[in-house]
Amino acid sequence: MSRVYNFSAGPSCLPEEVLRECAAEMLDYKGTGQSVMEMSHRSSAYEPIIEDAEATVRRLMNVPDNYKVLFVQGGGSTQFAMVAQNLGIRHKKAAYIETGVWAKKAAAEAKKLGVAVDIIASSKDKNYSYIPRVEKITGDYDYAYICLNNTIMGTHYEYIPDTGSIPLVADISSCVLSEPLDVTKFGLLFAGAQKNLAPAGVTLVIVREDLIPEPDDCLPGTPTMLAYKTHAENGSMYNTPPCYTIYVLGKVLHWIEKNGGAEGMARRNREKADLLYGYLDASDFYHATAEKGSRSLMNVPFLTKYSTGATDEASLAKEKEINSAFVKEAEAAGLVNLKGHRLVGGMRASIYNAMTLDGVKALIAFMDKFAAENK
Ligand SMILES: *Cc1c(COP(=O)(O)O)cnc(C)c1O
Repeated sequence: MSRVYNFSAGPSCLPEEVLRECAAEMLDYKGTGQSVMEMSHRSSAYEPIIEDAEATVRRLMNVPDNYKVLFVQGGGSTQFAMVAQNLGIRHKKAAYIETGVWAKKAAAEAKKLGVAVDIIASSKDKNYSYIPRVEKITGDYDYAYICLNNTIMGTHYEYIPDTGSIPLVADISSCVLSEPLDVTKFGLLFAGAQKNLAPAGVTLVIVREDLIPEPDDCLPGTPTMLAYKTHAENGSMYNTPPCYTIYVLGKVLHWIEKNGGAEGMARRNREKADLLYGYLDASDFYHATAEKGSRSLMNVPFLTKYSTGATDEASLAKEKEINSAFVKEAEAAGLVNLKGHRLVGGMRASIYNAMTLDGVKALIAFMDKFAAENK
């Protein structure tokens, strides 16, 4: 068996130790004679698994008692609607900061549901390569919305906007538990698990209790399953939860705890990111696309010297050729899923919690060799 270094943006690599534990328990979970995949979610074997996952999220993120921790389905994308349906109910008006695809999609969904959306800042002018500075948000908004880490553009907020009494909502899908985060600054946080927490299938929602409306007070027509209250009142077991994914999530959380919690992850992630950005900034062959001061610790898009922005056919062909050679040769060297998102082009290395320092070192060694051969 040989494992590759997997730089996928999501679903993405998981700690090897966690995968081994899952494998060891696959056929017989703690003497039950069943796999966790097979057991009732109401069984005495399963209940402690979901309870422990919630308790571990609370410990690792210092979640105050007046916040609910929910496990729901539908991915980050369903949260775009749920946020609007549950929170956009008084003034039916919300403020969004537009920092790329995911923030845009969230705003579009709110609009579709009848919430008036104010785009109060945007980094569209420079292809979303930076995070706009918004010190203070005021107005009769039901909530203000940010995407804390922009997976595609490789940008990350280095500050939290002050919203006063307006609840701040943040999509933390691609940076959850990558560093400490002060939950009390937010009204609601959500994260699709498949970037930094678990396999696909579960979405973590952390929401302040007073912001959860009665299902009937949500926007008209909100289905039962899309009311936070439904999940909050039933311990995330109103219907069958994604049992196995939550079980793996629990294991990943324990792995994080064993490795120093959010602080430990931040140290590890900074070391990896500093190494990679340091290499990119010193290189005359590659460059990072995200501006300094807005750079993600998790997702690092980069271009080669052939990506000059020139749009004549010869330049585009050369750029395409060099990018596909990079991705192909990297894969042959055991470094996979490095193709960039089409909106940025070039390459992207996602270096989530589970990516090791050795993986980043192997990537840099490959990049150096590829640059020397293609100068
Ligand atoms: C991946 C991603 C999403 C979409 O998540 P799905 O679970 O695929 O719906 C939303 N926001 C961010 C920041 C993401 O990285």
